Amino acid sequence: MLHNLGSINLDHVYRVPHLVTPGETLASHAYAVGLGGKGANQSLALARAGGRVCHWGRLGRRDAWARDTLADAGVDVSHVSLVDAPSGHAIIQVDDAGENAIILYPGANHGFDGATLEALVDTAAPGDWLLLQNECNGLAALLALAAERRIRVAFNPAPMTDAVGELPLSACRLLFVNRTEAAGLAGLPVDSPSDALLDALATRLPDCELVLTLGAEGAWYQAGGERRHQPALKVSAMDTTGAGDTFIGYYLAALQRGATVPDCLAQATVAAALAVQRPGAAAGIPTADEVADFLGK
Ligand code: ADP
Repeated sequence: MLHNLGSINLDHVYRVPHLVTPGETLASHAYAVGLGGKGANQSLALARAGGRVCHWGRLGRRDAWARDTLADAGVDVSHVSLVDAPSGHAIIQVDDAGENAIILYPGANHGFDGATLEALVDTAAPGDWLLLQNECNGLAALLALAAERRIRVAFNPAPMTDAVGELPLSACRLLFVNRTEAAGLAGLPVDSPSDALLDALATRLPDCELVLTLGAEGAWYQAGGERRHQPALKVSAMDTTGAGDTFIGYYLAALQRGATVPDCLAQATVAAALAVQRPGAAAGIPTADEVADFLGK
């Protein structure tokens, strides 16, 4: 089993003629609400990939539908609690040119207490994976507990913040980073060559396997002295939101099945390439059959 302690957000998306300016009241001509949050997206991707994932999350009482959406996809939601706090949510404006502006309120995602973190590490069996992103509180305590109990941690430090650098990252067995996150952790400019980013991360986290994703430039895998590039598929991308979440979910589901690293990279790459050709983050995550069909061609 893989335990994902992760954010669940409600994404409120408003289509507007232009992004609202200070003092302005602007009418939106279309509105939609959907499930989001990097944690929920990664659990959904894992489940659609056929992986076994238990999500640890917190939602406001009125928003049980979001828990049902995860459950319908096959995610174990027995540790998603409905609480007396507003759910994490994002207010997203998208203008006619596709530009966006986002307000993110972490809400219930920042209410994890010590008892829940203890319960998680007590529940995890030897050999289980723990997956974390940077949208929930309690990461430092959880990483320390995981190291103590020898639980394998996969970490995606997204969104990147200064606080990530202070975490006990030596507890991580596997790190998923995009260019921004890699540069932030490495202390290098974001446009640094990928080799420089990988060298710096190898020095900083010598015992950690690393997957660096670079959008249309594909992904790099690094462990010990091994470094391997996986090109992205050449596709026409229409919405790259959630590409990284899809990649991570599919990679981990393949790993859970005992796949080799090249196979994990291949599955993740195909799934992410299918996702970027569809609108929406959660909605764009393909099913295992769609990925298998593509690979079978
Ligand atoms: P994030 O969403 O975390 O910023 P990336 O943008 O690095 O992550 O994308 C993750 C993976 O998704 C890439 O390694 C690649 O396999 C795939 N991907 C992203 N953008 C594209 C694209 N334009 N074309 C093809 N594949 C893409």
